[in-house]
Amino acid sequence: MTRKARNGALSQSGAGPEAAACDRNFDVVVVGGGTAGIGVTASLLRRRPSLRIAIVEPGDRHYYQPAWTLVGGGAYDIGKTVRPMASVIPEGAAWIQARADGFSPESNLVHLADGGSVGYAHLVVCPGLRLAWERIEGLEDTLGKNGVTSNYSFDLAPYTWSLVKALKDGKAIFTQPPMPIKCAGAPQKAMYLSCDHWRRQGVLGRVGVEFNSAAPVLFGVAAFVPPLMEYVARYHANLVFHSNLVKVDGPGRIAYFDIRREDGSTERTAKSFDMLHVTPPQMPVDFVRNSPLADAGGWCEVDHETLRHSRYGNIFSLGDICSAPNAKTAAAVRKQIVVVAENLLALRDGREMPTFYDGYGSCPLTVEKGKVVLAEFGFGGKLLPTFPLDPAVPRYLAWLLKAKFLPWFYWHGFLRGREWFARPTDTR
Ligand SMILES: Cc1cc2nc3c(=O)[nH]c(=O)nc-3n(C[C@H](O)[C@H](O)[C@H](O)COP(=O)(O)OP(=O)(O)OC[C@H]3O[C@@H](n4cnc5c(N)ncnc54)[C@H](O)[C@@H]3O)c2cc1C
Repeated sequence: MTRKARNGALSQSGAGPEAAACDRNFDVVVVGGGTAGIGVTASLLRRRPSLRIAIVEPGDRHYYQPAWTLVGGGAYDIGKTVRPMASVIPEGAAWIQARADGFSPESNLVHLADGGSVGYAHLVVCPGLRLAWERIEGLEDTLGKNGVTSNYSFDLAPYTWSLVKALKDGKAIFTQPPMPIKCAGAPQKAMYLSCDHWRRQGVLGRVGVEFNSAAPVLFGVAAFVPPLMEYVARYHANLVFHSNLVKVDGPGRIAYFDIRREDGSTERTAKSFDMLHVTPPQMPVDFVRNSPLADAGGWCEVDHETLRHSRYGNIFSLGDICSAPNAKTAAAVRKQIVVVAENLLALRDGREMPTFYDGYGSCPLTVEKGKVVLAEFGFGGKLLPTFPLDPAVPRYLAWLLKAKFLPWFYWHGFLRGREWFARPTDTR
């Protein structure tokens, strides 16, 4: 579809700009107050302070998840990754502290779990994704004990670091489920930082390290595989592809994997461990998956370039829940925010949508304490480096960006609508 056609393909709203009778009505309703929800609200209000905008968000805490990998590697304080939700809600936005439960896009309504509803002229859907711990048998009973941990949880990332410090010999297994997952590099980042600690402590030779991934390759963008393989070799890590964690016996310290063979058959294999770092399977949140907004896979269906819903013209989506095939990262959200803010306001003004998403996402791969391979890429794995440096080289500068600058910028810039390094490459 051409861009002209994209702009003209849908009417501006599902059923006219006025919502049906409901408890409250807003110009814009944002579902989810995470990275995407707070960021896009701040950016919309910075452009147009008069907007009547509400955020539907049940939680009272806001997290900076990208630093949890550093916490698990002993390089960041978990307390610095969380702030009260009230402190990040942008000034001028209303906070509806409730759980969204469904959508009636034909009536321009968001339904809430408490039985209420909120009406909108334009809707932005960004409630993230769901970590499906329960899909691995026995996992929930043993998380946080018996050597079983995950950097994907605020509560567990510090336990990762305790396990890493305590392990002097034995077997450490790191897992990666089928895609899509948020920050596809995070499962192996946990491995590299753990190995780096064991190497510095002189015990790496006594720790058997294994990375079990459901994927067929170490990383989805080929340009970054060679430097990563150098670290895999340096840490003597054993890579097992097509290997999917399906069951954990915590007290027995045995992990069960379904390993896919070349002929398509699957073999269940039991592996003992002293430490098990699990990346959980990840799914669209149920209230989007079961709604008219979902695509066949359950993600919120958008045009990948405009981020406008493919069937409902007054709805946009961004962040982990949206169907665009980018790397699900906060870095992607940083660029998507500009696209949604500019296109949504253009539609409100009766103009054509001016801004197009190039699929940018970034994964700062923490290959050792003090070195990062800054993987930045767009749709189709096209390299999109921010800096004029070879992106495949591990750098201290990129570590400083990841561990110092980005967390600071997140709280003080990103969540306040300051769009540094966020301009889309494609505007007209
Ligand atoms: C371990 C780890 C490492 C990562 N590393 C990086 C990295 O290095 N670089 C990077 O760029 N990104 C990284 N990420 C990914 C990044 O954190 C996410 O991509 C980003 O947070 C997505 O933003 P989001 O707003 O879509 O989802 P979230 O930030 O998860 O926010 C979703 C919000 O929606 C709310 N919500 C849920 N259900 C409902 C409901 N029913 N009604 C209303 N609201 C609801 C939630 O409470 C939450 O506040 C990492 C993530 C993890 C877990």
